[in-house]
Amino acid sequence: MTPVPPARDRLRIAIQKSGRLADPARALLASCGLSWRESRDRLFCYGETLPVDLLLVRDDDIPGLIADGVCDLGVVGRNVLAEQGADRAANDRPAAFREWRSLGFGSCRLALAVPEGWAWQGPAQLAGMRIATSYPALLSRWLAEQGVAAEVVLLSGSVEIAPRLGQADAVCDIVSSGATLAANQLKPVATMFESEAVLAGPVAELDAVRGELAALLLRRLDGVLRMRHSKLLLFQAPRAVLPSLLPLLPDAEAPTVMQVDGADELALQALCHGAVTWQRLEELKRAGARGLMVLPVEGMLA
Ligand code: ATP
Ligand code: ZN
Repeated sequence: MTPVPPARDRLRIAIQKSGRLADPARALLASCGLSWRESRDRLFCYGETLPVDLLLVRDDDIPGLIADGVCDLGVVGRNVLAEQGADRAANDRPAAFREWRSLGFGSCRLALAVPEGWAWQGPAQLAGMRIATSYPALLSRWLAEQGVAAEVVLLSGSVEIAPRLGQADAVCDIVSSGATLAANQLKPVATMFESEAVLAGPVAELDAVRGELAALLLRRLDGVLRMRHSKLLLFQAPRAVLPSLLPLLPDAEAPTVMQVDGADELALQALCHGAVTWQRLEELKRAGARGLMVLPVEGMLA
């Protein structure tokens, strides 16, 4: 039976203790205005600016901690969340966690890889083969969708070495650059699942106090995510060139245009959501803009 957690009035977020997602997850939460007092064992960090605490764990534990109500939210790879979700579904257990937001870092994909020497002709070729993976539920689901009967060999680590050890014919593993596969004489032939880090939370609603804290955090997070690649562009220009400047700012929200005192000169302020490159600044300068200044935007509350 699922243990009933004691009522809590603080929000608890699980993040990876160490690994690829640990630092970016913490930095993202910090950019939402959270800060913590480190504990000596470094497993629990007490929230200082808001009643939002961190629990530092292995990424694989995060969906279960949410399902059991030990944690309210977690930052985890979509691959881990989907695998455990697919496993619950395959075992007729109700959905207990879901993706709340995608976070734009930790991107990778779950791919099928075969020995470099194979001439790949499609999934049907896998019939009767052994495929090593740490993602048995996602692999089984994909095989079923392809209508292929293959044997799933569950390995908890070093999946890519399995074909060389004779444990499997092919592998299904997380790939980002593909360098690890290449080092093991494997080549990716199919993408099963695109992944990145996500904020995970329960399917059921949180109670009032923690629900309100989560809503506050989401509002800040949305501001941070939205502004992540945005820049504030400030410059001046003669009024006459305004029509030739605006087309150079297609990704900007309606710019603020101010009259500079006593001159036929304007000061402009534009929030650009696309890349503000040197080339763009040079084009604006050629079109008559002066004193161009690019400022980072840390957050926004709409
Ligand atoms: P833990 O000790 O917490 O179990 P781990 O070894 O399972 O750590 P990491 O290797 O740190 O986990 O990967 C965490 C997540 O980072 C993955 O689940 C995945 O979502 C993402 N990721 C991004 N690129 C890669 C990659 N090239 N290989 C593996 N994971 C990647
Ligand atoms: Zn892990």
